[in-house]
Amino acid sequence: MDKEIRVRFAPSPTVPFHIGGARSALFNWLLARKMGGKMVLRIEDTDRERSTPESEENIKDALKWLGMDWDEGVDVGGPYGPYRQMERLDIYKKYTDQLLAEGKAYYCYCTPEELEEEREVLTAKSMMPRYMGKCRNLSPEQIAAYKAEGRKPSIRFRVPEGKQIVFDDLVRGEVSFESDGIGDFVIVKSDGIPTYNYAVAIDDALMHITHVIRAEEHLSNTPRQLLVYDALQFERPKFGHISLILGKDKKKMSKRHGATSVDQYKQMGYLPAGLVNFLALLGWAPSSEQEIFTEEELIREFSMKHVAKNPAVFDVDKLNWINQHYMRKLTPEEFFAAAKPHMIAAGYMNGKETDEKLAWLKKVVATAHEQVSFGAEIPQVVGMYFGDEFEFETSEAEAVLKEETVPTVMQMFIKELEAAEIIDGPTVKNIFKTIQKTTKFGGKFVYMPVRVALTGNQHGPELVEMIPLLGKDRSIKRIKTSLEKVGIALA
Ligand code: GLU
Repeated sequence: MDKEIRVRFAPSPTVPFHIGGARSALFNWLLARKMGGKMVLRIEDTDRERSTPESEENIKDALKWLGMDWDEGVDVGGPYGPYRQMERLDIYKKYTDQLLAEGKAYYCYCTPEELEEEREVLTAKSMMPRYMGKCRNLSPEQIAAYKAEGRKPSIRFRVPEGKQIVFDDLVRGEVSFESDGIGDFVIVKSDGIPTYNYAVAIDDALMHITHVIRAEEHLSNTPRQLLVYDALQFERPKFGHISLILGKDKKKMSKRHGATSVDQYKQMGYLPAGLVNFLALLGWAPSSEQEIFTEEELIREFSMKHVAKNPAVFDVDKLNWINQHYMRKLTPEEFFAAAKPHMIAAGYMNGKETDEKLAWLKKVVATAHEQVSFGAEIPQVVGMYFGDEFEFETSEAEAVLKEETVPTVMQMFIKELEAAEIIDGPTVKNIFKTIQKTTKFGGKFVYMPVRVALTGNQHGPELVEMIPLLGKDRSIKRIKTSLEKVGIALA
């Protein structure tokens, strides 16, 4: 039987959870769920200055919100814990002692200033800046002297010379690096905290990770990690480096391109299913043309074989299109619940509405259901139902009310509206019919001025939908105000 697939997502809790991180987590999760394997969530918090508990919470919340669970890791535990790197320092120490004893690692007493100087010298010679091994072979006297100066050493990995480090990347195929280009790298900093490349290798090995799926920017870290694996005689996992996410301008996705964190998309009212569907297509392509996938379908169809080498482009229009699909599938109740925070933010709701007002709000919000791509668009679409003050959208719209037929139409419209007992769709339809019949004016001369007088705009929802929602009094009030603005006083 094949070995159980074990994957991990190993975020550093330093920044708002980025969309790229969510994509990496998703590919791991899909692979685990497809193969009946295990997903591990490990927190890589060795960057003491930048790691925060809030960021860890934010990551976990976002994963849960997106529907990704983990079988082992922080909060849930598991056989290979602890799952937070700062709680594993004694584990790393054991391996560091071993590497030091075997001469595969050594103490480095260079100061940051000395290292900077070395870097400058190499750069000036157009050489790849790397550590040239000054402390590789210190004599006991030199070590004693540095110690006497009070220097605190870091620990470096002794990179074997003249070696090729080759691995078969699941996405990129064979990748190879020359060890001579790497330079002895720090594995433990002078404060005793391990570096990413060191801790990650030990953890992935001890946690029996079989597939390391992560972003392409880590590709150049992989040879260092492989050196650690080999030095500690750990079995190498498989690696798959998924391509960068670019903005539509083909530049690396950054804040300039708009929202980059999962939280921002959540705040804007994107749905988890929409975002997951979109993220899955950022680098993975199914064998068919299908673009809308349920979670089950994604799990069934996903395969690392169809993860593309070339960069993925973050196309917001596509995200909106996909999310709209999921918005439309919401029940009216779900849609209203999704709208609520945005309606409150826009000042259209306060959460303390009477039942009557709530019933009205539900009808109003429902008018946006087919139109919006994400929640924050809802208040824009229904904004015209709130407040009765508005300006004419364009001079063209204003001109509509200056036609000579307008006073007649409006007079009749108001009269009919006043006389009606219930203002519903059929009533409104009948009113327009009556006006057309009596005046013999074309539809355009009847509908358009009413629309403009009610909203200031030549476009908008169907009048038969809109007028019942505005109600008799507000409709009449709006019409009168608009007409006054263009100098028409009704009798
Ligand atoms: N902590 C690393 C990061 O967040 C993990 C990279 C990896 O998956 O190895 O970038």
